[in-house]
Amino acid sequence: MTAPQRLAVAVETPQHAAIGALLDYASEQPLAPGTLVRVPLGRRDVPGIVWHRGAEHAASDAQLRPVAEALASLPPLEDAWRRLIEFTSGYYQRSVGEMALSVLPPELRKLDDTMLARRVAKLQRLPPLPPATPPERPPLTTEQAAALEALATSTQPALLHGVTGSGKTEVYLRAAEAALERGQQALVLVPEINLTPQLEARFAARFPGRRLVSQHSALTPAQRLRHWMLAHLGQADLVLGTRLAVFASMPRLGLVVVDEEHDPSFKQQEGARYSARDLAVWRAHDAGVPVLLGSATPSLETWQRVQEGRYRRLALTERIGHGVMPRVRVFDMNRLPKSKGSDAPALAPPLLEAIKTRIERGEQSLLLLNRRGYAPVLHCGACAWKSGCPHCSAWRVFHKLDRTLRCHHCGFTERVPRACPECGNLDIAPIGRGTEKLEEQLGALLPGARIARIDADTTRAKGTLEAQLAAVHAGDVDVLVGTQMVAKGHDFRRITLVVAVNPDSALFASDFRAPERLFALLMQAAGRAGRDAAQAAASEMWVQTWHPQHLLFGTLAKHDFAAFAAGQLAERKSAGLPPFSHLALLRAEAKTAEIAAAFLNDATALAEGEAGVGVYPPVPPSVSRVADVERMQMLVESSSRPALQRFLAGWLPQLLPLRARHKGLLRWAVDVDPLAI
Ligand code: ADP
Ligand code: ZN
Ligand code: ZN
Repeated sequence: MTAPQRLAVAVETPQHAAIGALLDYASEQPLAPGTLVRVPLGRRDVPGIVWHRGAEHAASDAQLRPVAEALASLPPLEDAWRRLIEFTSGYYQRSVGEMALSVLPPELRKLDDTMLARRVAKLQRLPPLPPATPPERPPLTTEQAAALEALATSTQPALLHGVTGSGKTEVYLRAAEAALERGQQALVLVPEINLTPQLEARFAARFPGRRLVSQHSALTPAQRLRHWMLAHLGQADLVLGTRLAVFASMPRLGLVVVDEEHDPSFKQQEGARYSARDLAVWRAHDAGVPVLLGSATPSLETWQRVQEGRYRRLALTERIGHGVMPRVRVFDMNRLPKSKGSDAPALAPPLLEAIKTRIERGEQSLLLLNRRGYAPVLHCGACAWKSGCPHCSAWRVFHKLDRTLRCHHCGFTERVPRACPECGNLDIAPIGRGTEKLEEQLGALLPGARIARIDADTTRAKGTLEAQLAAVHAGDVDVLVGTQMVAKGHDFRRITLVVAVNPDSALFASDFRAPERLFALLMQAAGRAGRDAAQAAASEMWVQTWHPQHLLFGTLAKHDFAAFAAGQLAERKSAGLPPFSHLALLRAEAKTAEIAAAFLNDATALAEGEAGVGVYPPVPPSVSRVADVERMQMLVESSSRPALQRFLAGWLPQLLPLRARHKGLLRWAVDVDPLAI
């Protein structure tokens, strides 16, 4: 009889408990690294993954608890997958077990080995899809061919830089085709669930004989498990999904694509706060396969890497089919006569005329306003009462349709009061304008026009977004009002006018990435117009602004991303902001701001000096109280990524015992490479 094997197993430990720790167990049966197991922890059995073999015949082996169950019917998770998890957990400062188990399909842990064996056998018996003749592919443009040639000759990360309609997706399709022909799998990441069906349809049409699976949060748990297993077993050749899909188990990975790589949705904002874009690059590099980052407006991080020669830029400079980017006109709102007291008009008169002309011609207009609801705040002129949220440090938004005041942070909703709750004044007035009000005003300004609104409020019910988009496509809508939701991805053929109604707030936001986001949003919105060559010449984008001289609008008007990026990067450099520095935020949530600050101050006291790492004093974030929880945060900054990593790895484990000293502290977490500070 051979001695039991000692195994180091990754289990899900509570947040921050024993960062990096694996637990040792004994197994009679030899188990390969990557095997799923159930192991006793305290009085329960918990899921785990065999990470590596422990030292054999150690003296203490007799005391080791045995593995409760080995789920050995599932082929072990690959070394490459475990390396990705190890890197992620190290970089974002989470335990390996927490990281690994949080990215596996939850259904997996409900199965015992017998059930699993049945599933695996069933999926492995799936016949290949019937061979089908792929559709005819368009001949590549010179630029597309050059991009593909570059991809075939080097695995250096590549930025595929081109506006909407410049043929990026065609490059993804051809690159995927090359990977499939090599017998490999391709992984394609998109920022939003809404964008997956379109892309899925294009890939499915191009590769009719290949199995394609999606991975995103709208799948049912059963679908998610099935899709995950198909990729893991190598039955699926293409995996398409949102940020979560970066962790798909793909034993034959041959290509990674990140579409709209600049999109903030690639950053996970809960739990382990990872960037799927950055991990995609790491994963491709580790696997020695090409990675393609596509965007019209790359993130400044990616752009800076191109400037430094670490990434290559593959440019697609023209729209396919001679579509041109619409002419951008910056309208100076200061030219409008000052209206007394009341709000400025929603639309400058020349702009209203431009919309009317479109309606007469049977063309569509898209009005972009990134604020839903009727008005962001209600106000009493008599006593200065405002519609604050009692649970948050934020205003509640007036929604006229259902006459509610709603907090967009905590969800707290009440009927709109008839009179001022403070002084009884009957004349309480909305201040500012959201999409609901814009829609109402347009109704009055454009009698007879068919106006539709798409935002988070009109698309809450399943299927409503699709129905609304279908109406736009069918030409049943003249003017579409929407938030950033409509700016992304949708291929509206009949839109020839795009209007940014009020983009100025982003120019002066405290978030240092706000201008970058605004530029991307406006370029993307502009890309909605002029996709049809026949109408391209007449397509326009209007930007209403009180700051027409701002660099952002000047470079936007010239479609000159490089000039915009150079300006922003110069500002970032002089301010010591990313990508010229590396940041982490330590966030604390507590019953009072004092408790949160006290915890962070204690944490500061434990910070050992690491050369080149700065720890700043605790400050409240821009919305400090949400749902009666007070939040404070503390910035850690370094010009050296390794120094920051070393510092965090030494510091964070010491914060665990602090918790007990701060009654009323609810949560704390670290956010490496935060989106906003
Ligand atoms: P993007 O992803 O940059 O928005 P697409 O790849 O979707 O661009 O291309 C825009 C349109 O042009 C699509 O309808 C696509 O089928 C078509 N297209 C792409 N490449 C070519 C090509 N080389 N020849 C002809 N049509 C093309
Ligand atoms: Zn009042
Ligand atoms: Zn609230």
